[in-house]
Amino acid sequence: METALNNISYGLYVITSNDGKKDNGMIGNSVLQVANPGIIAVSINKQNYSHDFIKKSGKMNVNFLSVKAPFEVFRTYGFQSGRDVDKFAGFNGEKSANGLIILPEYINSYLSLKVEQYIDLNSHCLFICSVEEDRVINKDESMTYSFYHKNVKPKFNSEQKVQNKKKWVCKICGYVYEGDELPADFICPVCKHPASDFELVLD
Ligand code: FE
Repeated sequence: METALNNISYGLYVITSNDGKKDNGMIGNSVLQVANPGIIAVSINKQNYSHDFIKKSGKMNVNFLSVKAPFEVFRTYGFQSGRDVDKFAGFNGEKSANGLIILPEYINSYLSLKVEQYIDLNSHCLFICSVEEDRVINKDESMTYSFYHKNVKPKFNSEQKVQNKKKWVCKICGYVYEGDELPADFICPVCKHPASDFELVLD
């Protein structure tokens, strides 16, 4: 279905956090400066492992992905949970003054944020934050959600077509489901998004 909501612009970020025992990172798209000076709102789905880390520790780093970030970055931080894998196993790169990981590649800057307010939005939590550290690393252009969809996400390959089967493609990661009907409760095996994020591929 067409909706204006799909036309909202977003950036893409790796949000790093630590619960006192373990580092974690997730892909976030809802980061916005909402007031001066440097009042930042970050919305995070409560199902995300990182949500608990940030709520507990009151801090996070927002690593700004640049257009150089490959799909692998999204696969690593976005399409699996820190509950199942240690996304930073063996990491010995740089950390910011708050002790959180700075993504060593594919970013153009980062912010270290301190949580000032927690606003419960049912599915998500809105963290209202102040900036503790602000660093620009290079002049690469920032990755946007639309750039990701146009240039980074794997493309659906029409040569994979199977006769008499319909296809639905995951709008989030590009996974293709083939069959007679997409089950209503289908969950994308790659990115875990629901059937509502799939669209029918027309010939
Ligand atoms: Fe997907």
